[in-house]
Amino acid sequence: MLVPPRLLPTADAMPDPLDQPSAALKVPAVKPPHIPAWRQAGLRYHTYGWFLRQKFGCRVHKVSLDGGFTCPNVDGTVAVGGCVFCDNRSFSPSRRLPRRSIAAQLALGIDRLTRRYAAQRFIAYFQPGTNTYAPVARLRPLFEQALEHPQVIGLAIGTRPDCVPEPVLDLITELARRTYVWLELGLQTIHDRSLDWMNRGHHYDAFLDAMARSRGRGYDVCAHVILGLPGETREDMLATAAELARLGVQAVKLHNLYAVHQTPLADDVAAGRVRLLELEEYVPLVVDFIERLPPHCVIERTFGDAPPEMLLAPRWCLDRPAVRKAIEAEFARRDTWQGRTCDAAETYSLQRR
Ligand code: SF4
Repeated sequence: MLVPPRLLPTADAMPDPLDQPSAALKVPAVKPPHIPAWRQAGLRYHTYGWFLRQKFGCRVHKVSLDGGFTCPNVDGTVAVGGCVFCDNRSFSPSRRLPRRSIAAQLALGIDRLTRRYAAQRFIAYFQPGTNTYAPVARLRPLFEQALEHPQVIGLAIGTRPDCVPEPVLDLITELARRTYVWLELGLQTIHDRSLDWMNRGHHYDAFLDAMARSRGRGYDVCAHVILGLPGETREDMLATAAELARLGVQAVKLHNLYAVHQTPLADDVAAGRVRLLELEEYVPLVVDFIERLPPHCVIERTFGDAPPEMLLAPRWCLDRPAVRKAIEAEFARRDTWQGRTCDAAETYSLQRR
């Protein structure tokens, strides 16, 4: 068919082939690396202090509270004796000392932290024992009492992953609609042989189950981890980090394995059956571990310690400023940061900013 001449394009109107989209000529848009806010603030990892300040806009501290809970790993429900590192003599129901009320403990703790750190707001941290090891009818008034204090802006509840039945998670979900809630789950390691060694009384599948049932409930999960367990290689420990990254936990607390007096672990250390990590061994491991965690994950602790009179070994963890400084120095020496080996898109040097 002939095309009428008036419909033919003139030379001026002829499309320039270079203006036309062509698969061969398209240049994909380069996505700039996303730099998390904590890195823009000059940090090497997502510290708890920084997280709290961003979230609440003021200085926030945790107040440790004793709800009088025992532990199913101590009273014989799961096992007896408890974890090898746990000084759980005071958790035994028959030896439970009379406690102050939650309100009285809060008042004391808040007064001390206000004078020492000028803290303004507080997270009520139910810490010793297994803090979900009771019926909802007993848990609710304890948690509610803590929230009644005008300076308390959240709850942290420490427990075992095999001790969070649905009614308890429903209660925590309900509380999380009103306040900020952390569920702190003792994972320690993903390796069942290590969990057996420490007489933990549960395996890794309990943590997976607790995580799966916690999704979408409105509270955050913090996993407690121990580095330096006997028989675990560097690769074993980093496999735990990779799992936490995969599961998307919101926070991690790292502890070096340490021994307090009058525990089975203290006996093993004293007899030379268990060797604890030296500071020089621990520090690179911590950095390796944090490198594998995603940027959103909050690092609540980088090492553990105990009161000097209770701690057998290692004594290096008593010098907190020195340990923190050593960890910072290792991050700087490597010019690395949290998430560097977790997400390739995050490979952006602080020193090149
Ligand atoms: S689960 Fe916790 S409270 Fe219970 S024995 Fe182990 S460390 Fe101690």
